[in-house]
Parts: sequence; C-alpha cells; structure tokens
Amino acid sequence: MKDTLLQAVEADLARPWNRLRFTPAVEARFEADTATRRSRHLQIAGILALVIYDLYIINDYAFRPEAVHIAAWIRFGLMTPLAIAALYCVRRGLSPFLRESAMAATIVVAMLLSNVIFYLSKSPYSFLDTFSFGLILLVGNIVFSLRFGFAIVSSLLCALIMAGFVASYEPMETEVKLNTFVVFTSSALFTLVANYRLEVSERQSYLLFLREQLRNQAALQDNQALAKISLTDPLTGVANRRHFDTMLEQRWDEALAENTVLGMLVIDIDHFKHYNDYYGHLQGDACLRQVAQEMQNHIRQEVDLVVRYGGEEFVVLLPNASASSTMRAAQRIRQGIETLAIPQAGPGVITVSVGAAALRPHKSMEPAALLSIADAALFQAKRAGRNRSVLAPLQDGPLTV
Ligand code: GH3
Ligand code: MG
Ligand code: MG
Repeated sequence: MKDTLLQAVEADLARPWNRLRFTPAVEARFEADTATRRSRHLQIAGILALVIYDLYIINDYAFRPEAVHIAAWIRFGLMTPLAIAALYCVRRGLSPFLRESAMAATIVVAMLLSNVIFYLSKSPYSFLDTFSFGLILLVGNIVFSLRFGFAIVSSLLCALIMAGFVASYEPMETEVKLNTFVVFTSSALFTLVANYRLEVSERQSYLLFLREQLRNQAALQDNQALAKISLTDPLTGVANRRHFDTMLEQRWDEALAENTVLGMLVIDIDHFKHYNDYYGHLQGDACLRQVAQEMQNHIRQEVDLVVRYGGEEFVVLLPNASASSTMRAAQRIRQGIETLAIPQAGPGVITVSVGAAALRPHKSMEPAALLSIADAALFQAKRAGRNRSVLAPLQDGPLTV
C-alpha cells in the first residue's frame, strides 16, 4: 500500500492554488523538519536587526539632539529587552503560530517606537526618519521572511501606526506626508510580493525534497520486504534453503576465524508420509508449521537459525556451540515436538529424528562436510528406531540419547 504521507505530498504538489498551506499531515512534517533551522535563522536575523535598530541612536543624535535621551531610553530600555525576550522565547521553542506572532510583534513594536521617537521631537529634520520606515517592513517581510499571513497583518498594522503618527505630526508639510505614504506603501507592496514568492518557493522545494525522501524510504522498505521474502520459507515462516546456504558459509567462516565450534542439527519428521496420506496435504502443512514453530521455541533467538531444508526435513545451525550444547538443543527440540502430541495416523504422536554434529572448522574442510556428517547421524537415528537424537561420531563413536 502506498504511503499516505506520500499521497498527501503528491496531492499538495499537484494543487495549483493555495501554495502556502499543506495538508495537515504534511504541514506537521514540514514544521518538524524545518523548525530548528527556522528558529536559528530568526535568532540570527533578529540580533542583526536589533543591532541596526540600536545604531540608529547615531541618527537620533544627529537629527534630534534634544530628544536623544528619550530616544536612547526607547531603543535600549524598551525595544532591546523586548526583542531579546522574544528571541529568547523563539530559542526555547514555540509553536509555529506563537513563533511567527512573536517575530511579527517585534516588527510592529519597532514601528510603533520609531514613530514615537520621531514624533516626540520637533527638530526640523526629525520627520526624515519616516522615509526609512520601509526598512522595518523589509526586515519583517524579507529578512525574517515571516509566514505570508503574518507578513500581511504586521505590514498592515505598521501602515496604520505610521499613518496615524505622520497624519497628526504638525511640522510636516502635506506634500511631504503624501510622499512618505507613497514610499511606505510601495515598500510594503514590494516586500510582500517578495515575501509571498519566498514562502511559495521554500514550500515547493520542501515538497519536492519530502517526496524524494518518502519515495526512497518506500523503495528501501520494498527492497527489505522482498529480501525477507526471498529468504523465508512461505509455508512455515522459518529460513529457506537459500538463506541457509549463505548463513552456513558465513557462520563457517566466523567459526574458522574465531576458532569456535559450529553445531548443526538435521531434523526429519518420522513417518510423515503416513500422516500426510491419512490426514491429507492441508493438515500435513499445518503439522509442518507447528513443528517448525516448536523448533523456534527451543533455540537461541537471533543466534541460531532454523531452516526448512526441504519437504519435512529441517536444519538448525548453532554457532558458537559445543558437542554437548548441540546435543542438548537436539533433545529439547525432539522432546518439545513429542510433547505437542500431534496424533499420528495410527497409534502414537508425531515425532522427529535428529542427526547432530558439532565441529571446529578447519581450512582443509568444506562447510558441506558438516551437513553430510549430521545427515549421516540422522540416518543412524532413523535406523535405530526413530524419535531419537544421534550425535555424529567424531572421535569416540556415536552417542545415542
Ligand atoms: P521417515 O520416517 O523415514 O522420514 O519416513 P517419512 O514418511 O517421513 O519419509 P518420506 O521421505 O518417505 O516422506 C516424506 C513425506 O513428506 C512425503 C510427502 O508426502 C511429505 N511432504 C514433503 N513435503 C511436504 C509438504 O510441503 N507438505 C506436506 N503436507 N507434505 C510434504
Ligand atoms: Mg520423514
Ligand atoms: Mg525426509
């Protein structure tokens, strides 16, 4: 089944309008992926903007020396702590709404305080500041890149504040007021257009990036699922022969390198043909599944490997074993299967015979040697009457339990 997030991303990419908001799941992922970077960006941009704002004290000193004290108070005593508080909150982590609100609020407050500074002075050139108020919009809309909605609202509030102060500022000629309005409105419009385009392209490239990431992830999962299928026996869910072939080589090499003993069991169900003929193939399959599961219950998970070698024959690979631990595993499995008490066709229950072998690999040997030794032990177990385990003779002759 296709990833639902990927479907949402594709739907968002196909949508020709409303590029500023993703579907909720994608929006949440966008925030999760970009919040840290955005917060860092806002902190750096915020500090830079604050430094410039405070440097305007030089401008105050030049144009309104009589009001420089109050201007200093406003810049250093009001704006600076407020901005630092907002940046601190952004740094600590806020919801997207609060984060954008905090940054938009610093813009509006900066605009308000700049207006107060110019308004309080009646120096001949104090009003000249109003021509650079567009810079404050530039900071909010482009440098901070406030989300478009917040950019619109903060620009509008700034315009209202500025209009209020300028309109009621007596020393300014009407023509000059008109001119400053025009400059301000154009700055607002231009920076808002740029802001819109920045956000659309940021979001667009994020969608493309996320689509790529999700597609890769899905392909990787498909591959892993396929790899698992190709290594598993579909009937019993244990490893198949292909997996066994690779694992035997691998475990053999490890044992050779670490000079450890590799153990192996070859397990065959006794008189399974009778069972199958009597109960039918489907029940035979169910029996195979039960027997395979029981083997899994008696091995070291993640270390040993149960394999369906073919038909009703299984192999268990036991790395880092000993002859006696291999034999103990054989007995646990054999008794476990007997205890399942699956009724056999005729008297008795389903049992297995086990051929066990354990050896320290040597360079002169092939891994297949272990299998054929264990297989020979299985043959002996069958010949000795079935439902038993035989450890392959290595030095001292066969040991039957
Ligand atoms: P022994 O004790 O000597 O092992 O006798 P046996 O009857 O188990 O041995 P034999 O090899 O003659 O029979 C194996 C039977 O296993 C043959 C077949 O009916 C059955 N079998 C093999 N593969 C499957 C399978 O995938 N599903 C089912 N249901 N039966 C299978
Ligand atoms: Mg059999
Ligand atoms: Mg067989």
